[in-house]
Amino acid sequence: MIKISPSILSADILKLEEEVKLLDKNGADYIHIDIMDGHYVPNITFGPNIVRSIRKITTKILDVHLMIQPVNPYIDEFIKAGSDIISFHPEADVNPDEIISKIIDANIKAGIAVHPRVKISDIEYLLKKVQQVIVMTVTPGFGGQKFMHDQVQKIKDLYDIRKNNNYNYEIAVDGGVNNENAKICKDNGANVLA
Ligand code: ZN
Repeated sequence: MIKISPSILSADILKLEEEVKLLDKNGADYIHIDIMDGHYVPNITFGPNIVRSIRKITTKILDVHLMIQPVNPYIDEFIKAGSDIISFHPEADVNPDEIISKIIDANIKAGIAVHPRVKISDIEYLLKKVQQVIVMTVTPGFGGQKFMHDQVQKIKDLYDIRKNNNYNYEIAVDGGVNNENAKICKDNGANVLA
């Protein structure tokens, strides 16, 4: 079963409540919240406040994707804000393992996100602990990019690693997903489309 995790990045901030309710009604499984800091990525979106606000108006799973650097100093705020899943880019902090533990200890699902320039072999040591891996199929931080087909192999590799090791993360794909390439993602083993 494929889960849909639409991003509120494209939502009009003043109509946020309407947009979130529309996503609820249209059967989104998660609500994907992209947090950009203007440092890890050259764009700024929102902070923990937006998670707190959305938490008040929906019971949907809040799938928070941190594109921030460093990560550790802000994790507690995102936990307290009501996130259900927190994913981050492991190369954006010195001790990703510690951050994953912090998230899991708070009874929240921990995920890692894989920037197009990061190899699966670089993050493989973290896979046994996480519950979600996001494969980025665009370069994070810019809107309106095309789906990068050369990242699809990572979906397949993650699928194989999970199978061979009995790991239990979900494989999410984030960026430029449309009807056409959704099938490619699914056929290669993705189960969440952002
Ligand atoms: Zn995202």
